[in-house]
Amino acid sequence: MSIKSWKATTGILVALSLGASLAAAKDKKKDPDEIGNRDVGKGVNFYSLEKEIALGKQMAQEVEREAKIIQDPVIAEYVNRLGQNLVRNSDAKVPFTIKVLEAQEVNAFALPGGFFFVNSGLILDADNEAELAGVMAHEIAHVAARHGTRQATRGAIINYASLPLIFMGGWTGYAIYQGAGLAIPLGFLTFSRAFESEADMLGLEYMYKAGYDPTAFVDFFEKIQSLEKTKPGTLSKVFSTHPMTDDRIKAAQKNIQEILKAKPEYVLNTSEFMNAKERLAKLENRTKKVNEGKDAERPTLKRNPGSGSPDSGSDGTAKPDSDERPTLKRRD
Ligand code: ZN
Repeated sequence: MSIKSWKATTGILVALSLGASLAAAKDKKKDPDEIGNRDVGKGVNFYSLEKEIALGKQMAQEVEREAKIIQDPVIAEYVNRLGQNLVRNSDAKVPFTIKVLEAQEVNAFALPGGFFFVNSGLILDADNEAELAGVMAHEIAHVAARHGTRQATRGAIINYASLPLIFMGGWTGYAIYQGAGLAIPLGFLTFSRAFESEADMLGLEYMYKAGYDPTAFVDFFEKIQSLEKTKPGTLSKVFSTHPMTDDRIKAAQKNIQEILKAKPEYVLNTSEFMNAKERLAKLENRTKKVNEGKDAERPTLKRNPGSGSPDSGSDGTAKPDSDERPTLKRRD
């Protein structure tokens, strides 16, 4: 081999390895083992993290003035505990405040800076904890990736008139969020397609890392979609801020297959979820809905076919202990 051709080969090798490491850096977002060690919120942003928290706090105060927060300690503590566990398994760099709103629409929204509101309608329409966790993880992903302020920054670059008016004391440009009659700047609740699909992917990773069955997210999507078809109108505002499409469902299924290594066991449901849901139904006088969700009484843990050994738990994810396996006992 002549020196010349050796040099040429080295050059190609260097280029190849550079390309490989660039690809590896890009794929960090697709690697659940990298959760917490990657900057998913990177991007052009006019807001410091501090400013983002201050903005979110102001908006959250507005929400709490206008909407009804569910004060029942069992429900409030359960939803907060579930959410904080997901936050711990996420890339989020801000502390979260999680509250339950009395609103029938199946939705949840997290404001910039970690101010997270879960509609009671979402809890009532979820069949199990994993479904609720899936939607909550999606919202946590929007905050972790700083989609709200990054989108506001983009809007501001295009048009200064869309700078958050909350700092100017005006209401022009605010949209009424139908679910609870709230006025929140629309730009902070409706995200671009790219941000939505990123939140879908990150959310799946977070729920998976927390020990939940990621397919529950897809199941919930499909269930809501078919409800929409059979009862048109009644659920027209379901996920108004997160329109569901076949594309999103397909992309989520693909992500589960490609980036989430199957675990032998997943958490599907807990008695705490059923208890909180029942209390909520009583509170809202909607016991009918709970009775309709009979299949929620299925076993709590779903086993993957063909995998015998229990989860080693070495990856730090939730390991359901067989002795502490949640059971579902209903008092009716
Ligand atoms: Zn979303």
